[in-house]
Amino acid sequence: MSQRFQHDVLVIGSGAAGLSLALNLPRHLRVAVLSKGELANGSTFWAQGGVAAVLDDADTVQSHVEDTLDAGGGLCDEAAVRFTVEHSREAIEWLIEQGVPFTRDEGHGVDDGGFEFHLTREGGHSHRRIIHAADATGAAIFNTLLEQARRQPNIELLEQRVAIDLITERRLGLEGERCLGAYVLDRGTGEVDTHGARFTVLATGGAAKVYLYTSNPDGACGDGIAMAWRAGCRVANLEFNQFHPTCLYHPQAKSFLITEALRGEGALLRLPSGERFMPRFDPREELAPRDIVARAIDHEMKRLGIDCVYLDITHKSAEFIKSHFPTVHERCLSFGIDITRQPIPVVPAAHYTCGGVMVDQRGLTDVPNLYAIGETSFTGLHGANRMASNSLLECFVYGRSAALDIQSRLNQVDMPEALPCWDASQVTDSDEDIIIAHNWDELRRFMWDYVGIVRTSKRLQRAAHRVRLLLDEIDEFYSNYKVSRDLIELRNLAQVAELMIRSAMARKESRGLHHTLDYPQLLPRALDTILVPPNGAG
Ligand SMILES: Cc1cc2nc3c(=O)[nH]c(=O)nc-3n(C[C@H](O)[C@H](O)[C@H](O)COP(=O)(O)OP(=O)(O)OC[C@H]3O[C@@H](n4cnc5c(N)ncnc54)[C@H](O)[C@@H]3O)c2cc1C
Repeated sequence: MSQRFQHDVLVIGSGAAGLSLALNLPRHLRVAVLSKGELANGSTFWAQGGVAAVLDDADTVQSHVEDTLDAGGGLCDEAAVRFTVEHSREAIEWLIEQGVPFTRDEGHGVDDGGFEFHLTREGGHSHRRIIHAADATGAAIFNTLLEQARRQPNIELLEQRVAIDLITERRLGLEGERCLGAYVLDRGTGEVDTHGARFTVLATGGAAKVYLYTSNPDGACGDGIAMAWRAGCRVANLEFNQFHPTCLYHPQAKSFLITEALRGEGALLRLPSGERFMPRFDPREELAPRDIVARAIDHEMKRLGIDCVYLDITHKSAEFIKSHFPTVHERCLSFGIDITRQPIPVVPAAHYTCGGVMVDQRGLTDVPNLYAIGETSFTGLHGANRMASNSLLECFVYGRSAALDIQSRLNQVDMPEALPCWDASQVTDSDEDIIIAHNWDELRRFMWDYVGIVRTSKRLQRAAHRVRLLLDEIDEFYSNYKVSRDLIELRNLAQVAELMIRSAMARKESRGLHHTLDYPQLLPRALDTILVPPNGAG
């Protein structure tokens, strides 16, 4: 039997964004936090590097702002950048208060007036400003916030719940545009439950799973972006997908990043013949910025029709490799690759979705009472290229500002009246799940080939044609058969892919992460690509 629930705040997503929002809400509110798998399923758990923030006395807000604007290729919203950076110290202080075990700086401490935590530096940052917990920052943050959330009796953590669609007044044929909650598949019972809420928050992460190769965990399917679009929200800048140049290429190795530090320590990229190729692309060779290295690898793979290239650090001593890169060494060894003696097969992989659901500084979308925070949102912070470690920061800053906004509006928003249940009377059990698997594979493959690191108008047109066919087929399947997690994800992935292709076709220039051979130049004016849904709210 499907059930009805009511919450003051329904948070869809249990990553950095969702948990920090929940923990910043007043304790008297009934808050539900959903995850479509286990609670740790999001990207947050896998974040390695750290969180960018202005913490060192020698650093300034202005410097962090300028670095972010620089990385963003002229497309960042300066007000959003300033807002985020100005709140960065406060966000980190909050995380420290929650108990996140950031790595301490042995040389400094509160006693000598210095900052007691170690700060590292990453690409694009002109100062040391990345606070981290060794090389597993995401896990440290996630575990701490989860522990805190478990201690709060007002926060209910619900695993294996897949939000399917938002419930809006418009969807129900009522007057008005407000969001009233969501329909959610309970994977335990197989039923679709109705979750009514005064406020609903999308914190569902990115959409990198739309590509064949990705560093993201399986759930990164753009569910929040697709749900918001269907509910009438504008989306922006979905053509900007960040690719990490080196992900391990092995049939059994899902989503394992080979850290940039290997190249920092002298690892060389080679073709299967052993020939180096980076010197042909950039004078900085293997140490060129991420997008340039990713484009060079992509170019060589397409030119030669090869499945991967190789990252070679065998010229360093085995002792050096094992002590500097114990995790990479062990992980590769578990797949039969001894990196002290063999080059590592690598491919670039989709890593971060810069665009998303348009929100203001409160995280509020176009649909009243619906918020979007974290990777699923578009705040204007990242512009055409995300600067390393700004993404987790965005989760905390907007998680808090959305929580404060909800708090300030508690008196204005009532609990929705009894909502209609999900209607499953017209659907049957599917006996053709192979279609889902096939379409999933096809989508991710053509997105990789046609809407990947280097684009052309012809490839984008091909992709647009394919995705329309897929959307029709998926729609038909969705109307006739009972929903499952795979079907929900495929439907959302196809929708987000279509929006990405449309955005890429609309941009007649190469800027930041969007590189097209047909428009190699930069246009004089930087404009966001904003898509408005046919049923747009407001
Ligand atoms: C390998 C890796 C390394 C990274 N390193 C860094 C780094 O060092 N620094 C940095 O700043 N950023 C880093 N990033 C990016 C950063 O981790 C993410 O941008 C950030 O964690 C996103 O957090 P989030 O809360 O928005 O979403 P996520 O952490 O991805 O969480 C999404 C949540 O939504 C849930 N969900 C999704 N769809 C549904 C649905 N339909 N119904 C119910 N629940 C749903 C999921 O189950 C999950 O709980 C890295 C990313 C990866 C993949």
